[in-house]
Amino acid sequence: MNAQTATAQKVGLAPDYDVIVLGAGVTGIYQLYKLKQLGKNVTCIDALADLGGTWYMNRYPGCRFDSDSYTYGYSFSKELLEEWDWPERFSPQPDNLRYLNYVADKFDLRKHMQFNCKVESAHWDEQNHVWRLHLKDGRDMSCRFLVTGLGLLSAPTPPRYPGVEKFKGQSFHTFDWPHEPVQLAGKRVGVIGTGATAIQLIADIADKVADLTVFQRRPNWAAPLNNYKISKAEMADIKQRYDDIFHRCSVTPGGFEHEPDRRGFYEVTREERIALWDKLYEEPGFGIWLSNFREIFTDEVANAEFSEYVADRIRRRVKDPVLAEKLIPKDHGFGVQRVPLETNYYEVYNRDNVHLVDINETPIKCVTETGLETSDARFEFDILVYATGFDAITGAYDRIDFQGVDGQKLRDKWKDGPVTYLGMSIAGFPNMLTVAGPQSGSASTNFPRGIEVGVDWATQMLEFAWQHGHTRFEAQPMAEERWTKHVGDMYSTVLMRKAKGWFTGYNSNVEGHEYGKVRHLVYNGGTPKYVSVVGKVAADGYSGFTFA
Ligand code: NAP
Repeated sequence: MNAQTATAQKVGLAPDYDVIVLGAGVTGIYQLYKLKQLGKNVTCIDALADLGGTWYMNRYPGCRFDSDSYTYGYSFSKELLEEWDWPERFSPQPDNLRYLNYVADKFDLRKHMQFNCKVESAHWDEQNHVWRLHLKDGRDMSCRFLVTGLGLLSAPTPPRYPGVEKFKGQSFHTFDWPHEPVQLAGKRVGVIGTGATAIQLIADIADKVADLTVFQRRPNWAAPLNNYKISKAEMADIKQRYDDIFHRCSVTPGGFEHEPDRRGFYEVTREERIALWDKLYEEPGFGIWLSNFREIFTDEVANAEFSEYVADRIRRRVKDPVLAEKLIPKDHGFGVQRVPLETNYYEVYNRDNVHLVDINETPIKCVTETGLETSDARFEFDILVYATGFDAITGAYDRIDFQGVDGQKLRDKWKDGPVTYLGMSIAGFPNMLTVAGPQSGSASTNFPRGIEVGVDWATQMLEFAWQHGHTRFEAQPMAEERWTKHVGDMYSTVLMRKAKGWFTGYNSNVEGHEYGKVRHLVYNGGTPKYVSVVGKVAADGYSGFTFA
């Protein structure tokens, strides 16, 4: 039954659910919890075979948080915080997935979840104020309100090289790394890409494989993760400090404990700058990016001086000076793109079994049955890994046929980039809240810190609608226009606007996402500002929305 037939048959009937939550990852789990607390008829559906979203899918070796574990966990339950021990400062994927399962089981959420529910379409039924979903397996579902937690990086983009389908060995995008163990010992492995994912993967497998060839288009600026095991005593101390930790995360722009150094870059001496950088380079996590001078993000000269400092660090770690230069980005400064954190990534290139191929010099021509061909060589592999990134944030929306008022398609509306109100709602798409959507507060912050704000806000808005007997709400076009302009204007203040990365919507594997066509995907105002803006909208009775 298609959505139109379903609509015709169900006119006048109550929808199946008060709310459908799309996605059973970090966002969906918490959203489901909140709505069940209100006693609502809710289901949380996911295309995957189980819960966990990004932590269910990304099983590649080396995959782990680069947020400090104890700032990544949910903050909503003191009991949960008390019960859960993080094993490492930056917890690995298996533990992260175990954590999300623990949360779902603890709050008995699993029985409200449905898996293998691949949504093909979601169409708005104006007559009944209902969303009608059609699944790939033929099922239909309906709900009054739709809340999306589709993930920021859940639409993987393999490269479009000729011959990809011909390769006879094992090959996969990192997002689709197999659930069963992949035998790496004795294997010749090729990895395409050098983003945050590849940097974790390469460093982890270099000493496990026979031979590893990395195909690099552009190097990234990476800095040490400085991970370590959390002792029992430290975990006990963290538990004592949780209120303070979460408070600190709520007042910093990035949702981490790291605060920018508020001394002016030019007000201190070069020696003082170096002293700060030496300290940050040895510290765990994103301090090197987020506890730096603020000018790093906005001032080309300041950014260049710091980038040169990091370049020197790389030179010290890679023995072959020619190779070291290849690993140092020349087309962008440090932190302009999302910074990957690494453990011995640069040292890997000192190994005899690891080779770097610069595919700017010798481009990949095609994938073959046994490997791949560049402009000057043939490579043979047993395993070929595509660490080639994602169609960020809007990609997951584009893969579902969302149709709003008068059949308007969301993918048409967002063809040149997203337009939203608060990153939470879209004019012409009533009763839909995009909690971790583009331009929301979740996209450029420590993710769980951002989505807790989004989920709390979305839940309060739904409560408002229920309390007032509203069956329909919609963002006003003017409000949407103002927000989208505000998000765009903020890009103009940061060097990131020039980045060839997913923050600007660039992805060479997706048509229409070419470099230069900036898509304003993320809100750059920081968590505190976002919280105050959405809080004011709520306090004003949800200004910018129309209710019916
Ligand atoms: P990415 O940052 O977009 O990197 C993709 C890499 O593949 C880039 O080096 C890119 O080169 C290369 N590439 C793409 N298409 C290619 C092609 N057709 N031929 C050759 N090279 C190609 O993707 P990612 O590494 O998966 O990381 C995405 C985001 O995931 C990160 O920014 C981060 O937010 C998140 N992440 C988080 C964690 C964590 O929290 N621990 C770990 C991993 C990833 P160009 O630079 O030239 O485009």
